[in-house]
Amino acid sequence: MKNIFSYPYNDLEDFLIKINEKKYRAKQIYEWLYIHKIDNFTEMSNISKDSISIFKKNFSNNFIKIKNVQKSKDTSKYLFELSDGNLIEAVLMIHNYGISICISSQVGCNIGCSFCESGRLKKVRDLEVYEMVQQILLIEKDINKRIDSVVIMGIGEPFDNYTNVINFIKIINNPFGLSIGARHITVSTSGIIPGIKKFSNENMQVNLAVSLHAPNDELRSKIMKINEVYNINNLINTIKEYIKKTNRRVTIEYVMLDYINDEKKHAFELVNLVKGMNVYINLIPYNETNHNLYKKSSKDRILVFYDILKKHNINVTIRKEFGSGIDAACGQLRAKEGE
Ligand code: SAH
Ligand code: SF4
Repeated sequence: MKNIFSYPYNDLEDFLIKINEKKYRAKQIYEWLYIHKIDNFTEMSNISKDSISIFKKNFSNNFIKIKNVQKSKDTSKYLFELSDGNLIEAVLMIHNYGISICISSQVGCNIGCSFCESGRLKKVRDLEVYEMVQQILLIEKDINKRIDSVVIMGIGEPFDNYTNVINFIKIINNPFGLSIGARHITVSTSGIIPGIKKFSNENMQVNLAVSLHAPNDELRSKIMKINEVYNINNLINTIKEYIKKTNRRVTIEYVMLDYINDEKKHAFELVNLVKGMNVYINLIPYNETNHNLYKKSSKDRILVFYDILKKHNINVTIRKEFGSGIDAACGQLRAKEGE
């Protein structure tokens, strides 16, 4: 039985028409689910009993569960249990400009980047749409505040769960529901070229971030084995096409690994790769994991790298570090409890 939180607005309208209900009820139902955040269909007081009993027969409204929350000053890490017992994590961050959350898109991840804790567990399965939607709903309920922005940067490769991720975005973006603006939603991919191409045709004002992390194939293949499938040249060309088609700036993520990809020569190579493109580079201080293959670059090395990009007129920022004290930072999320 499909979960009601997996229904994009138009699909819900189609369902209503099929059961001889009025199409406009979709708006009322969205308000019940996403604004009043009801737990039970019977709370929909402006919907007829007959329709409610049809909903009960046709939709599940099962919820994922909050299993644990770890809080620090500006960050909270939520561990969720799915109905089949699998675990995923999401992270809430309080910025001075609003509240953002980082959500997971899969249980585990098959891309297996060498620096990432999330990919250490091979993909068990894709998340259903409702399991992504409810990460946001449950956190909003928990903090009793609205979430302003969402990044799909938790566990999983979103473009390996493409259709569900797109439906998830449609649902949270819908103005009758959670109403999270498209420009406040970011999808991060490890560089799945067919996904980027498809995404450029969605006509959504959603932000795209691409994890590049190295400026040449030799190095990128060493740290990200996906580079053997989608190499840098093809990836950069795909990003160029994406920008041309969507007229939107793309974020390039570059994790700073000490003495691996943070040399001056790498900065120069990176300049050559992206020069003239409408991108901005986000330098990510590496969050060390339990499997200490890599060390985090020192502040000085990051600044030298940053300056080279800046001097060549490349838009660049250094990502603020969140949640490392509670292992809630990028790449530290796991699908296992307490390991
Ligand atoms: N699978 C997608 C999205 C999830 S990972 C992707 O790879 O883009 C989100 C970001 O965190 C990616 O840029 C990823 O490379 C980065 N990341 C992974 N492990 C990290 C770590 N230990 N420290 C800092 N960033 C990390
Ligand atoms: Fe998967 Fe992204 Fe981690 Fe790579 S960095 S293993 S793609 S979650």
